[in-house]
Amino acid sequence: MGPPGAGKGTQAKFVAEHFKIPAISTGDIFRANVSHGTPLGIQAKRFMDAGEYVPDEVTNLMVRNRIDEPDAVNGFLLDGYPRTQAQVEELDGMIKFTGHQLDAVVVLTVDRDEIVSRLLQRAEVEGRADDTEDVVRRRQEVYAEETEPLIGIYRDRGILIEVDGMGEVDEVTQRVFDALDVVPES
Ligand code: ADP
Repeated sequence: MGPPGAGKGTQAKFVAEHFKIPAISTGDIFRANVSHGTPLGIQAKRFMDAGEYVPDEVTNLMVRNRIDEPDAVNGFLLDGYPRTQAQVEELDGMIKFTGHQLDAVVVLTVDRDEIVSRLLQRAEVEGRADDTEDVVRRRQEVYAEETEPLIGIYRDRGILIEVDGMGEVDEVTQRVFDALDVVPES
């Protein structure tokens, strides 16, 4: 978890490689569907372009189907999910029947100014449609309203790991590994 631009996607790939599990990014799956013009992509696009969350029913079903794929049978990393209270509950339900449990929730903490400059840089490099200033601001608001409160849920469960997301990418990666390496596997 972490606000837009915190580096979730970047770190997710390294963590997934390290633990030999797939990184499942809801944002990436949505973007792939948008670029292929699938019905899911058409449905998701207007929310993404506005910086709003895609409705829970759509997102939940998509994640459910993805974690049913054979490559996720030994575990998986979710990047960008859950982001709402309803998604937290849905994920609990999905995991219950897999024999897995949620081992850890990593939150990347960053400062706001740094994030804005990262996102503007990404806008230049990747040309993401939702990296314009207005939409970025809305995504930050939605994160603060809907997702930040979920951190408390995972803290209460004792599985929250807060990692300083500032500094060089490889420094952050090392912090994430150090924190995760001591977590017992389920
Ligand atoms: P970021 O975290 O940088 O905003 P993502 O690539 O993770 O970017 O997500 C991009 C967009 O995809 C979000 O703004 C939202 O519209 C949609 N999205 C991704 N994950 C979810 C989710 N779990 N629930 C609802 N919408 C989502």
